[in-house]
Amino acid sequence: MKFKILTLFPEMIEGVLNSSILGRAVKNDRIAYETINIRDFSQDKHGSVDDYPYGGGAGMLMQPQPVFDAWKHATGNDRQVRTIYLTPQGETFNQSMAEEFAREKELVFLCGHYEGIDERVLEECVTDYVSIGDYVLTGGELPTLVMIDAIARLVDGVLHNDESAQTETFDNGLLEYPQYTRPAEWMGKEVPEVLLSGDHKKIEEWRLGMSLERTKVNRPDLYVNYLACNSEEGKERRRKNRRKREYRRNNS
Ligand code: SAM
Repeated sequence: MKFKILTLFPEMIEGVLNSSILGRAVKNDRIAYETINIRDFSQDKHGSVDDYPYGGGAGMLMQPQPVFDAWKHATGNDRQVRTIYLTPQGETFNQSMAEEFAREKELVFLCGHYEGIDERVLEECVTDYVSIGDYVLTGGELPTLVMIDAIARLVDGVLHNDESAQTETFDNGLLEYPQYTRPAEWMGKEVPEVLLSGDHKKIEEWRLGMSLERTKVNRPDLYVNYLACNSEEGKERRRKNRRKREYRRNNS
């Protein structure tokens, strides 16, 4: 899978994507990325890319021409390529969006800065408007990295077996159960006995119970949704949706 990032600050992206698990995935060709510096597409002799907003108001806006030329460079002017604009006004990012984006071969991320980007160029090239939460950041680089991290770890071969994405929070619609490692006793606190029992059935039951309890207390919204999805009616609805998705995939 390839990520292309349109930004005024490529070094912010490169530092993170060359490190840790994502850095390893890049080296092993599981994922690839390219940063495209929007400033390189400025036609201004000073390389400027922003100007005052029409109608007045605080701050500067990124101008349409350098953004559009950078986007054309990234996509070959192909409007089918998913182009994500990071904006606090977008749909809030979540795990099921990460799963959906992870099915694409290529994603383009457009990072705003200052007061944002001229609306006209967004209309021309953006396919998805995504926010990472109800707060305002100085730029789209951190949100892009959050999204790439969540998406990339779902790509085959990015995580090793011992880093599996299978039993995590949100994987089954619940928060993950508490986890413990050695030593078995620390500061007078003991690891729950069931985890030392070697009885896998009991361990699974304990984990599900803890997941349910945590979700009920910390995220009642997810808990209600989990109960609805796991009722007989909810399971049947999910089976039908899965069949519909398979039918669409096989006939597209
Ligand atoms: N004036 C814009 C508004 O009110 O919607 C906010 C601009 S913000 C200061 C600058 C850039 O940071 C945005 O263009 C966007 O790319 C990014 N950004 C800020 N907060 C974000 C969030 N919560 N999620 C995604 N991107 C965000």
